[in-house]
Amino acid sequence: MCGSCFSDDKVEAVTDFSYEYANYVVTIHDVPCLKCRVCGEVLFAGEISGQIEAVADTIKNMLEGNDNGNV
Ligand SMILES: [Zn+2]
Repeated sequence: MCGSCFSDDKVEAVTDFSYEYANYVVTIHDVPCLKCRVCGEVLFAGEISGQIEAVADTIKNMLEGNDNGNV
């Protein structure tokens, strides 16, 4: 169910997911999602959210490692 308009009218789609970390903006392209056909709200399945978090953690660790190697 859509969290914004409570419609059940959703379609499978892909979207670009962006987030900011420190001075970086990280974009993950073609993330599978469900898109509400009424209001356009994008929903991620639980497993997709977990994968996004895992990727975000990996990138965060890489960036921190590169910025100051003695954390
Ligand atoms: Zn909606």
